[in-house]
Amino acid sequence: GRDGKEHKLIIVGLDNAGKTTILYQYLLNDVVVTSPTIGSNVEEIQFKNLKFLMWDVGGQESLRSSWSTYYNAVEAVLLVIDSTDRERLTLIKEELYTMLAHDDLKSARLLVLANKQDLKGAMSAAEISKQFNLTSIKDHSWHIQACCALTGEGLYEGMEWLTDEMT
Ligand code: GDP
Repeated sequence: GRDGKEHKLIIVGLDNAGKTTILYQYLLNDVVVTSPTIGSNVEEIQFKNLKFLMWDVGGQESLRSSWSTYYNAVEAVLLVIDSTDRERLTLIKEELYTMLAHDDLKSARLLVLANKQDLKGAMSAAEISKQFNLTSIKDHSWHIQACCALTGEGLYEGMEWLTDEMT
């Protein structure tokens, strides 16, 4: 936030969930410094005092062990869901709980972005919340937000929650 201190956030989700689109909506109209990809499939974007690290979860097993090297000092996890992708919901749920169990993410907030709400057949935020059993999460502060990355709808509200939590 407003204190000048650097904040580190990670944006994760399956491929095609809308991570890149969401990130650039957040950064719209501002100059963004994109570092060359720093790890196998990890992209780092520095914006003012915010550092975003972004990668696809659910990728090859061999890449997974390296993700945790980026967990240090992470203040927030943004999990982007393609709300029409019912088949892979269980997969992403497993990835989510594995992440939340990691020591370095103990104090990280969780923002779930239920993206692609404009598409027919999209699951609602309530439905995804139920599938993910989010109410069982007591050791992290979490929030789920319905959104559409194409129009930006819902993205501001999600970030509002996050900045309130972080300041
Ligand atoms: P990433 O792989 O998670 O970074 O996903 P991208 O940001 O590259 O988006 C994957 C595809 O989904 C692209 O064609 C986007 O234009 C599209 N997309 C992203 N968000 C939305 C959305 O809210 N609604 C619709 N209809 N398409 C979206």
